[in-house]
Amino acid sequence: MMKKRKLRTSIPQLSKVKAELQKEIGSVCPFCENNDVGHFQIHHIDEDPSNNEQNNLLFLCPTCHSKITKDDISKKDVIDKKLNLRNRNSKVQFISVSVDEENCSWRPIENVQNSFEAVKLKSLFPIFNFSLINNSDKTLLLTGIKLKTRRLPIGLAGPNVPLPNILRPSITYKIKMTLDGKTIETILKDELEVPSTRAFKFQIELYDDSMETFKPPFNKYALFFEFGFNNDFYTEIPMILLNSSEYYEELKYYSLA
Ligand SMILES: [Zn+2]
Repeated sequence: MMKKRKLRTSIPQLSKVKAELQKEIGSVCPFCENNDVGHFQIHHIDEDPSNNEQNNLLFLCPTCHSKITKDDISKKDVIDKKLNLRNRNSKVQFISVSVDEENCSWRPIENVQNSFEAVKLKSLFPIFNFSLINNSDKTLLLTGIKLKTRRLPIGLAGPNVPLPNILRPSITYKIKMTLDGKTIETILKDELEVPSTRAFKFQIELYDDSMETFKPPFNKYALFFEFGFNNDFYTEIPMILLNSSEYYEELKYYSLA
């Protein structure tokens, strides 16, 4: 199949889009403290200059823009940053994900956010600790968990700062691994009650009928979780990588494209 040529097209309603992007970042470069917004530039996250969807655009200072171009700032960091900016004003905000290293044989990959690897070819199921915060003025119920899985090609290889585990997880949900590309929502029988303005933490143990599924190095996955509240709205979680440190081919799975 011929690849479509990607042409730069001018952004419709540029000044309006710029104003919205500037508001999204609070008039400060999302990667440094620079607030000289008059010189800020628009970055196309998926590197397709014709994709002017607002979810694909990030407003930032020229220095950090060129760092992205030189890969000094990774694409995954850019995507995570955009997602965090979008979630910043939502009712439930994602704080962190880690693995329960005491109870499963997974550990973070150094220097890559939200990436984990199975230790020593063991094939135990990963157990994630998710921390979020309820920013709304009402008690919310965690009612469903959506998961989409992408099996990654072999050969993709990367790093993570373990985040502090301040809270004890209140509940563990067992979620079955989904087939490649499929989104499956698990409706929770034990709904988690989350008081207003409180941080909360729960675990997800990801399992599969085959113990082989999670074995490195041949099994690499990108996981896309969404947490549903009050059967009403979802909070997207940054991509989680298993046995891999990079993957960003298909931004649409992030709903950014
Ligand atoms: Zn900057």
